[in-house]
Amino acid sequence: MKFPQRLVIVSAASCMLLVYIVILYSQALMQLWNSDQDVRIKRSLDQALNGRLGQTSALELDKCPHFRFMSPNTTISTFDLPAKTNYKIYTNMQYLIPHQPLESAYYPDIEPLTVIVLPHSHVDPGWLRTIDDYYVYQVKNILNNMVKKLNAYRNMTFVWAETVFLSMWWNELDDDVKVQVRHIIARGQLEIALGGWVMPDEATTTYTSVIDQLVEGHQWLWENVQVRPKNSWSIDPFGHSGTMPYLWKLSGQDKMVIQRVHQAIKGTLAGTKSLEFYWQQYWDRSGKDSILCHIMPYMLYGLHHTCGPDKFVCSMYDYRKVPIENTRVASKQVTEENVAEQAKYLYEQYRSKAGLYRYNTILVPLGDDFRYDFEIEWDQQYHNYNALMQYMNAQKEWKINVKFGTLEDYFSQIRIEETRKRKWGNEYKFPILSGDFFPYSDQNHAYWTGYYSTRPFDKRFSREVESILRSADLLHVMAYFYFKQWNKAYSSYHENTASLQQAHRNLALFLHHDAITGTAKPYVVQDYEFKLLQAYNFSQDVMGCALQALLSKGKFQSPRLFNPETIRSTFKDPSMRRTVSVVKLGTKVVFFNPLPYDRAEFVQLIVDTTQFEIRNSKNEVIPYQVNPIWVASTVVHKEAFEIVFHVHIPPLGVETYTLYPKDDSKKHWARISMYNTLELEVDRELKFEQDRPRHGGSHVGRVEIENQYLIATFETIHGMLQDIRDKRTGNTTNIHFDFLHYVSQGSGAYLFFPKGSASPFIQSIPVIRVITGPFVSEIQVLFPNLYHSIKLFNHPGLQGEVLHIQNALDMHVLNMKDREVIMRMSTDVKNKNFTFFTDQNGFQLIGRKTVRENRIETNYYPMTSMVVLEDQYKRLTLHSGQPHGTSSLEQGWVEVMLDRQLLYDDERGLGEGIWDNKLTMSKFILQIEYRDMPPAEEMKFTYPTLFSHLVSEHLQQPIQKVFTPINSDALAQSFLPSGQSLPCDVTILSLRNLINSDLVYNSTSFIVHRKNYICGFTSPPLPCSSNNTGTFLIRELLKDVKFSDLRETTLTHINTLRTIADDKLQLSPMEIKSYLLSL
Ligand SMILES: [Zn+2]
Repeated sequence: MKFPQRLVIVSAASCMLLVYIVILYSQALMQLWNSDQDVRIKRSLDQALNGRLGQTSALELDKCPHFRFMSPNTTISTFDLPAKTNYKIYTNMQYLIPHQPLESAYYPDIEPLTVIVLPHSHVDPGWLRTIDDYYVYQVKNILNNMVKKLNAYRNMTFVWAETVFLSMWWNELDDDVKVQVRHIIARGQLEIALGGWVMPDEATTTYTSVIDQLVEGHQWLWENVQVRPKNSWSIDPFGHSGTMPYLWKLSGQDKMVIQRVHQAIKGTLAGTKSLEFYWQQYWDRSGKDSILCHIMPYMLYGLHHTCGPDKFVCSMYDYRKVPIENTRVASKQVTEENVAEQAKYLYEQYRSKAGLYRYNTILVPLGDDFRYDFEIEWDQQYHNYNALMQYMNAQKEWKINVKFGTLEDYFSQIRIEETRKRKWGNEYKFPILSGDFFPYSDQNHAYWTGYYSTRPFDKRFSREVESILRSADLLHVMAYFYFKQWNKAYSSYHENTASLQQAHRNLALFLHHDAITGTAKPYVVQDYEFKLLQAYNFSQDVMGCALQALLSKGKFQSPRLFNPETIRSTFKDPSMRRTVSVVKLGTKVVFFNPLPYDRAEFVQLIVDTTQFEIRNSKNEVIPYQVNPIWVASTVVHKEAFEIVFHVHIPPLGVETYTLYPKDDSKKHWARISMYNTLELEVDRELKFEQDRPRHGGSHVGRVEIENQYLIATFETIHGMLQDIRDKRTGNTTNIHFDFLHYVSQGSGAYLFFPKGSASPFIQSIPVIRVITGPFVSEIQVLFPNLYHSIKLFNHPGLQGEVLHIQNALDMHVLNMKDREVIMRMSTDVKNKNFTFFTDQNGFQLIGRKTVRENRIETNYYPMTSMVVLEDQYKRLTLHSGQPHGTSSLEQGWVEVMLDRQLLYDDERGLGEGIWDNKLTMSKFILQIEYRDMPPAEEMKFTYPTLFSHLVSEHLQQPIQKVFTPINSDALAQSFLPSGQSLPCDVTILSLRNLINSDLVYNSTSFIVHRKNYICGFTSPPLPCSSNNTGTFLIRELLKDVKFSDLRETTLTHINTLRTIADDKLQLSPMEIKSYLLSL
């Protein structure tokens, strides 16, 4: 082996690390030689390694921060838990949760036990009814009764989580009731926990949107009731993400409660009394951002499942008896005669539950969905429990103290016990856990992995709203600031501010765990869609208005000139591009780059002519490519065309490109090639180059599209991708695409339960169109109601390094009952041990391991922005523009579920299947990266490369476009607020104005995230710096913005951490920091 000798030259500083890498390298090399991989890859990796390692210095490794953080510093990793878990189902259809025998309640050596009984009501902002119906018929009553009864029963408590309902209620309250609410809170009887706008779903939401709804909720709470939540309460989301504990902690909450964790995993944790732990991020070696988490042990959060292990016993302690309800009630009112007997059974349940935890304090939630809506229930629960508590507390030999309390009461008690006992040894310390809790199963091997993909139309819709709203926020902040600077009145301020507030709240509502999950009734879904459409339109309005104000330097605020280029005409249609009409004096198209990095890329527009030229803001003529628009599968539109041209837009910048009528413009007509049809109808006037249509029949042909870097090859029967070749290195990756379907045997809105493996779902031969040109080449495959396209841009930057994929699927029209459609890639990536990575909320990548012996649905995981497959040589990343369920069932495979049409209910409360499918678009980017260093180790988590982060940002934050036929000199050609790009690893999560209830400006929220990234892959040049100091200046980003005050705060801005004298911001890798600027 030639390699080890070369090590002699390394510097002492990096010696240890290099020894480690050498071991890994030797292992890697052995496997290399044993494999049948392309010799070229071996050679290039070999050369790269020798070169790279010879030069590696401590400084270089310092630039690649992942090296220091790859080994988690935790006692429990959820990655390892499945192997230790007993998944057996017992006769009652349940997984096993170990419990103390009931007799243990009477052992002579029992220790004193404190029981905190926690009244609560779980209120969904939409599920079987709309949010408004729930409010009017139930929630309003719950809250009104709460004030009355907590005033009457001073030892009773209540916990509330959803701020959206508080805000609806608050608007109707008299001032004196508001004062009473504040008093109840001040007395510690009412605790607002979590305090988000909603209790968000944790599988399908992005971290930016989760933060945004938390800001919305916390700001409301602070302004109206002066509350800063200290404890998170997230009891109904269907599985729990590892990202949320970090966000809750940053927002000032240092304890949390969750419920829907796989019951078998709960059993494993309970076995070592680990249902309470510090939840620490894999990458957080210090543990400074960890949070104390309590998992509720039993199957549901309702009071029939919370007093102890026996749900039949617990249901005897539900004292609700509402006259108009004729449900059978197991409980008997507590009387002097029966109190002893009732107390005894309950006491035994409490003692048994206590055996699951390390400390002698237990939490017993006393509530359920929409409980306490009738006044009488408050009295019934209170009086009966009060009588039981008095009796139990009087039994000295029971050594028990039962009382009503809040989460804060509970956690204070166990914290005290921990501090007191931890000096006695490790067994009393809380364990440290890293990872997450997906997938979720409640009982009977039923896996809640279907909802990751249920109602994908709405999942995609919300992602679009998210990006448009973010752009509108950025532009509105800039308009607000520049009007101040210009000393002019921002006349649309109130209108825009009100629109943005509504848009934020509508999107926040959609994060609710029955909204984005797709698990509500159809008419409730429609209600969400109306609200998303309103948010979409409001954001477009604000964006157009602010752009006009900024380009006219505030002179020209009305009438509105700009039309959005992309619209949604109704709540049930996907977004559509509008046709830009080229007018005599020139049509202006304005582009906004919402990213804080320089951006150069090809854009596409639909226009009504090809007789025009494009000029940029410097009046230079820009060439363009003309692509066909289709009126039918083989008929080209005579009067509409897609044009593709290159734009360059600085960070957060606005640039105008003007389309002037002209006969002989610099344009390139695309070439059209058709497969599997003999038809192609193109008007004679049009200059498209054409190949003679070919009928493929059963003969498998090949067709390629290429750019300067890549060649993608497709077969011509189904138009599916076969491989991608990198022209620079000669490396080829085999990637076979397939569209398949699972047949359901019990899937529903929540559950995925397929009957066997997936099979091809379309038998017909599709028409294939291949459009090639100098700027972009594309293959378009037309199955009945499934459109699939892959594009390659001929771009020297990141746009040219990846494949752009788009699908449009309409299962409703296809009449595919009880089917679940997937897109699968089978590749030659040899991922070890069936390990792959999925993102969590777009914030981090977490390791998954497929267990091939187990059923398919157990190996499904949520992805919101990417799934990664890698081996010794390369990494394949599928970026996604919307959330999906995903899996890697065999080595080299990746699949994502695109849609599901299900006739039957899955018995989780919805009461029906899902068959309101609509035409649904999905967007992906496929990226392949080749290693120039071997992987560090087998990893439980990883990071994207810096380049991959940028690709993701481009997909999630597309350039926004508006246009106007009015070519007025009053509008400047450009608006460039930024001095320079932020470092590539720093991203803006939020730049928005905060306001009070009267829409008066309060301050500006600026939330930034410094990403961490992995090195060791060949990277193209990046449009931003990758210097890893983590420091940047706001004045470099926003060169003209002057602010009177800059403070670092907790995540949602309700606590100030420190004032910053200069404008220098400093972040560590993975850190999210929040700032308040006063403009
Ligand atoms: Zn719920």
